[in-house]
Amino acid sequence: MRNQVLASRDAEVIVVGGGPAGSTLAAALAEAGREVLLLDKARFPRHKPCSDYVNPAGAELLAEMGVLDEALRLGARRMEGMIVHAPNGAAFTAHYARAEPGRAALGLSRYQLDRLLLERARAVGVTVCEGAHVRGVLENSGRVTGILATIDGSRDALRASLVVGADGRHSAVARTLRVASPLRWPRKTGLAAHFRGVAEGNGFGEMFVGSRVYAGLALLEDGLTNVTVVANTSDVARRPGSIEQFFAAATQELPAMARLLDGAERVGTIRGVGSMACRARQTAGNGWLLVGDAAAFLDPFPGEGIEQALRSAMLAAPVIDAALDGDDCSAAALAPYRLARRRAFTAKRQVSWIVQGFVNNPPLMNHVTARLARRDELGLTLAGILGGFQPATRALDPRFLARLLRP
Ligand SMILES: Cc1cc2nc3c(=O)[nH]c(=O)nc-3n(C[C@H](O)[C@H](O)[C@H](O)COP(=O)(O)OP(=O)(O)OC[C@H]3O[C@@H](n4cnc5c(N)ncnc54)[C@H](O)[C@@H]3O)c2cc1C
Repeated sequence: MRNQVLASRDAEVIVVGGGPAGSTLAAALAEAGREVLLLDKARFPRHKPCSDYVNPAGAELLAEMGVLDEALRLGARRMEGMIVHAPNGAAFTAHYARAEPGRAALGLSRYQLDRLLLERARAVGVTVCEGAHVRGVLENSGRVTGILATIDGSRDALRASLVVGADGRHSAVARTLRVASPLRWPRKTGLAAHFRGVAEGNGFGEMFVGSRVYAGLALLEDGLTNVTVVANTSDVARRPGSIEQFFAAATQELPAMARLLDGAERVGTIRGVGSMACRARQTAGNGWLLVGDAAAFLDPFPGEGIEQALRSAMLAAPVIDAALDGDDCSAAALAPYRLARRRAFTAKRQVSWIVQGFVNNPPLMNHVTARLARRDELGLTLAGILGGFQPATRALDPRFLARLLRP
């Protein structure tokens, strides 16, 4: 029966994008017995502009997926905490392992991580087509029936019962469905590079907040360190010199970071993403669904993008499987995904907006950092929330916020 149905289409599900969201969802559906075609315009392994930091909850998801040991074998670094430096030099440590024993973030380049996840999808039966640039979706009578792609220079129309947009921040799927809704604020550009020879403290990640930029360090495989600078998109656009000069000047603006980078050598190019925040007005409809950044992304500071990409894939898989079972991939049949997203992400998103408020207001950032350094219980709660292993609602409790902001 399934083969007969498949004769009129190319796959049950087409997943556009083989990043963490796409390859995780494709693998989950293939494991449930679905015929999945995954298309990515890149050829793997490929670099991706990112700080290469997987938060503790994301690391836990990798363990559940059975890839943590392989990630560690590839040299992924465990980071038991994150040191956050405020513009005035105050610092506090979000100590995950003290907040909950055994918790740690993971540092692994996206070159390795994304290849690992895509190989896992292939191993469980996903058909992977690399070098396939999806241009848009095919629609018929108000429902999505497939995609249009350029594969090996020729245009192809491919059909499926469901199309998943897992194609990141500039999602072609979301764009052609007219649900992409760019945010007016914050408009930040991220610039990421790998370095060798960065001075290493106690094996923690570090974030440095300045008055106009912030930057992060994450420890990676093979003695590499990821250095990411985030600045106003307008400042990057109006820079007088090259991107390399802008990047170097930004790290020099952050004295504590400049000290760690002294004598270090950049390996490879600086990879950038302009105006990072994005959001889709709707995350599922008739014959389509969005996961990962294609659905929403705010800012790298909370370090939750990869975790949310994996989690959104895990929320979507059972809903899609049930919809295919019922031969009904309508918006109504996919609605449980939208509800599951709301339950999983709303509180964390509100916390991320609060964090944006701190990071973009130096006096407030100085104050909050000093409070967190002085009040151990506040720091441990925030470590658990930012690490994704304690409920974000705890940070929204007015008593927590009052204790954080008290003079
Ligand atoms: C500068 C920066 C630093 C960041 N640092 C961190 C961090 O340290 N930790 C963290 O958790 N998150 C971080 N993030 C966020 C994180 O990178 C994303 O949340 C995560 O990659 C989302 O995964 P995804 O699978 O949804 O999308 P992506 O990882 O973007 O994957 C999308 C895939 O789709 C493919 N694709 C795109 N368009 C098409 C098309 N038209 N046709 C076919 N294929 C297509 C791409 O080639 C890509 O492989 C950072 C983001 C930025 C910009």
